Amino acid sequence: LRPAQDVENAYAEKVRFRARRQAQYRRLRNKPSVTKDGVEFSLQMNAGLLVDLPHLAEAGAAGVGLFRTELQFMVASSFPRMREQQAQYEQVLDAADGKPVTFRSLDIGGDKVLPYLRSIQEENPAMGWRALRLGLDRPGLLRTQIRALLKAAAGRDLKLMFPMVADVSEFVRARELVEKELKHLRRHNHAVPEKIRLGVMVEVPSLLFQLDELLAQVDFVSVGSNDLFQFFCAVDRGNTRVADRFDTLNIGFLRALKQIIDKANAAHVPVTLCGELAGRPLEAMALVGLGYRDLSMSPASLGPIKAMLRSLDAGRLSARLLPRLEPGHPEANIRDFLKRYASEMDVAL
Ligand code: PEP
Ligand code: MG
Repeated sequence: LRPAQDVENAYAEKVRFRARRQAQYRRLRNKPSVTKDGVEFSLQMNAGLLVDLPHLAEAGAAGVGLFRTELQFMVASSFPRMREQQAQYEQVLDAADGKPVTFRSLDIGGDKVLPYLRSIQEENPAMGWRALRLGLDRPGLLRTQIRALLKAAAGRDLKLMFPMVADVSEFVRARELVEKELKHLRRHNHAVPEKIRLGVMVEVPSLLFQLDELLAQVDFVSVGSNDLFQFFCAVDRGNTRVADRFDTLNIGFLRALKQIIDKANAAHVPVTLCGELAGRPLEAMALVGLGYRDLSMSPASLGPIKAMLRSLDAGRLSARLLPRLEPGHPEANIRDFLKRYASEMDVAL
């Protein structure tokens, strides 16, 4: 009864996915995600509940690029215990059947209120006591989750990223918690993951100015374009009066996204983009032009994005797009340019 908005969205998405599972996308399922000029892509899917996992095979995703662990907490009536968390993560990894899964530590707090967790009134919950901030201030919560993940991934690979990092030192503290838990498990002769990779969601603009330090610390990054855009343009993503006020393909934002991919490539740090931009064909086209090669999206978007990629020449698009991001270029409307380009070049949108 009365599910939280995110849970409702997750189920609405499932319904949309079923409805859109059209034959033309189904026949693309086992085809490679490669552009006309041979550039290979990794298309992963976003998930948050066990019921999402069958979409991995159905949609032909390369893995789960973002597993939103808070959904388990939002559908529960009391705080899931360590064993329940562990069981869920084990089932997710089993269902993924060897495909990579990137777990994200709890992104609760702010507007994602858990009825059984005492919440405080905040003027600006999106910028309040949420996600990793809460985890670092209440390390018991985060350590329990980390322990559950480490145990669930025993003998397998664990990929874990932290949300809402605004300063590199927060990641360093989170990593210390992982190391503590690992030590604890080893001391008690528990099996631990074969390999652990720790990453950060780039979704707070302050990180754009700490990329060198960040990239020197992390194993991977994932761009959370939903929050990054919200904070970049100071528009509440949930407020319909302003959410669409600025174009997500505005030059400033695209320059920021380009800086992330360029720096990550130079530092040889893998980067995924897992916000909604990745699942919209025209926007994803812009990402291709900027140099993104690893995208994670809702399962329903995999078919349309793959169709777009397979009809696109990535090199040619980059050559046309990148000069438009330079200051002083006469055509500043990137969305119009991309639409025109897609129609001229017969890109499937
Ligand atoms: C994002 O912010 O882009 C993101 C992927 O995370 P969420 O939508 O869960 O905040
Ligand atoms: Mg986010």
